[in-house]
Amino acid sequence: MVSRKIMLNEEDIPKQWYNIAPDLPKPLPPPISPETKEPVNPSALEPIFAKELIKQEISQERWIKIPEEVREVYRIWRPTPLYRATGLEKALKTPAKIYYKYEGVSPPGSHKPNTAVAQAYYNMKQGIERITTETGAGQWGSALAYGCSMFGLECAVYMVKVSYQQKPYRKVMMENWGAQVHASPSNNTEFGRRVLEDDPKNSGSLGLAISEAMEDAVSHDNTRYTLGSVLSHVLLHQTVIGQEAIKQFEQIDDYPDIIFGCIGGGSSFSGAFYPFYYDKVSNHAPKDCEFVAVEPTACPSMTKGNYMYDHADVARMTPLFKMYTLGHTFIPPPIHAGGLRYHGKAPTLCLLHKEGKVGVKAYNQLEVFETAILFSRTEGVVPAPEPAHAIKAAVDEALRCKETGEEKTIFFPLCGHGYFDMQAYDDYHSGKLKAYEYPKEKVDEAMKELRDLYPWINDQ
Ligand SMILES: *Cc1c(COP(=O)(O)O)cnc(C)c1O
Repeated sequence: MVSRKIMLNEEDIPKQWYNIAPDLPKPLPPPISPETKEPVNPSALEPIFAKELIKQEISQERWIKIPEEVREVYRIWRPTPLYRATGLEKALKTPAKIYYKYEGVSPPGSHKPNTAVAQAYYNMKQGIERITTETGAGQWGSALAYGCSMFGLECAVYMVKVSYQQKPYRKVMMENWGAQVHASPSNNTEFGRRVLEDDPKNSGSLGLAISEAMEDAVSHDNTRYTLGSVLSHVLLHQTVIGQEAIKQFEQIDDYPDIIFGCIGGGSSFSGAFYPFYYDKVSNHAPKDCEFVAVEPTACPSMTKGNYMYDHADVARMTPLFKMYTLGHTFIPPPIHAGGLRYHGKAPTLCLLHKEGKVGVKAYNQLEVFETAILFSRTEGVVPAPEPAHAIKAAVDEALRCKETGEEKTIFFPLCGHGYFDMQAYDDYHSGKLKAYEYPKEKVDEAMKELRDLYPWINDQ
């Protein structure tokens, strides 16, 4: 009998996070300050981020100890189950084996608390009393609100006004955990007040919310800012996913041939495959494993964007990061995978793609939702629209295996459930969703703009 659900014990929760920095094929291009044109001095970030997180961001140590207090909170939902998707396999009549690791069992319903809890902990240890962040659809905001409630910190979330109005339930969830949720633009910051003065009806954007959350953090002594993806310390914390998965595959004497993962900023996918990448580069892997990122055709950073230095935010407050980008001026088209609308991607993941270690695929939202429905009907879980991109890639691979007769082992992280995404599913059922492809001309325009803005670094 095949195992349907592969479980671990609480003692199997990893004791260390895996830092990929020393194992990258090349040194990571450093973040650059646009003012000095030099690599950013880490101490300059101390008014923004907790010190320990800055240390982790630039660390070259391969293994970083997970504090016991953090593991104690992880025990609430970790280890997460690894499922064999036998229902899906049967429906596809594929000889391939499909596995997914379900991160939707966490209280906020995604992988994000793996880092939110750690970030809240390090802020608390430093004596910080309050942390701020921005959120779009609300997944990161609710994870951080949860993390803060675990360590007795105050939490201020700047939520894009249009989402605040249209998706009220994530907001309610954050309030349950004690967070203060501000519809952004708000009257709470200089920047927000200025925007509202010019345009009282402004419905907000993620870039604007970032600017407000950062201003709030730097203008209050006891307050710091946090990010839910893209940065190296965030990816680091997510490596509990892949480390557990390796143990789970060991338990059933199997190992993936290929790993797919959706990429918003890249944290869930990287957290799932970086430990397998380490297996590979340290010659521990029982067989060769391929890694493939999956993005929407509506936000094709890796498939259409360039590898360049760009800001992480629209307001150009952050340093410049070398990454695949659509340009910080990217205006996301209306797609329903709210977590996959970011213009750039994590710098370490981008370097791995540049060096040919990680592949990439893109799908449009219609084919993605079609697959999400198939998954709901065969596996039961209603997936978040974001990981449904990875499911689509896994299904395509399984169908290819059917043609060739290959018995490949396919793995992807199912990084969240879709129980707050019913509007998107309703739109799909009533035929309102459209396939969308971000036009190449817009990418070219943005790339030209980036070269014009920063020719001293983007013109080589
Ligand atoms: C935030 C989020 C994403 C996108 O972010 P990554 O850093 O790429 O993982 C994907 N899926 C879910 C469920 C999310 O909450």
